[in-house]
Amino acid sequence: MRVDVVSIFPEYLAPLELSLIGRARSAGVLELAVHDLRTWTHDVHRTVDDTPYGGGPGMVMRPEPWGEALDALVPARPDRPPRLVVPSPAGVPFRQALAHEWAAESHLIFACGRYEGIDQRVLEHAATRMPVTEVSLGDYVLFGGEVAVLVIMEAVTRLLPGVLGNAESLAEESHAHGLLEAPVYTKPPGWRGHDVPEILRSGDHGRIARWRRDQALLRTAGRRPDMLAALAATDLDKRDIAA
Ligand code: SAM
Repeated sequence: MRVDVVSIFPEYLAPLELSLIGRARSAGVLELAVHDLRTWTHDVHRTVDDTPYGGGPGMVMRPEPWGEALDALVPARPDRPPRLVVPSPAGVPFRQALAHEWAAESHLIFACGRYEGIDQRVLEHAATRMPVTEVSLGDYVLFGGEVAVLVIMEAVTRLLPGVLGNAESLAEESHAHGLLEAPVYTKPPGWRGHDVPEILRSGDHGRIARWRRDQALLRTAGRRPDMLAALAATDLDKRDIAA
């Protein structure tokens, strides 16, 4: 997968060199480049923003540098056009399903907004040549899109084939089947007066699987009733319903 990130703070994306994302890059699973938007400015101050039409506080990112950045980063005749991802608190919520969709893309371009955001015409024009998604990390407002890119790239990269040592972890984890994962424990069996649940040390794989399923259902019901309500009847087995 190829990924291009455009930002006025490229140094903010330094963590993309680290840990498993860094390893995916070294292994060639992920080809990632971070670009300074100011590369595509032409005035002495390297201006990227201006006052908003219609008035109001703050500044808006001008369209010209973004237009030139996308001209440079979108291949002339791609087999499949890249997807432009624009982090925004006004975007669709970022969820695991979107991470799966984007892990199947061959090329993602991220446009990191700052100030009051990017002139909307950049997105309108981009949509004439590629799919564009405005995406939100959650119902709060950040300074800029860089943190959103770090989050999205963690979620997407761990889904790329070969990145996780044990692909089974993807099948069992929170949000894989519309539930939160059961609590997890390791050694020692007793710690500061708190014991690992006996059943997890029983060696009875059938009962352990049932216990984990029950815990996942209880956790989801307590913390995310919206997720439980969204489960289809076919996602539940008879023993879930009895519980
Ligand atoms: N004026 C915008 C609004 O009210 O929708 C907020 C702009 S915000 C201060 C600056 C940039 O931070 C946005 O363009 C976006 O890139 C990023 N950002 C802020 N909150 C975000 C969120 N919840 N999810 C994704 N990106 C966010």
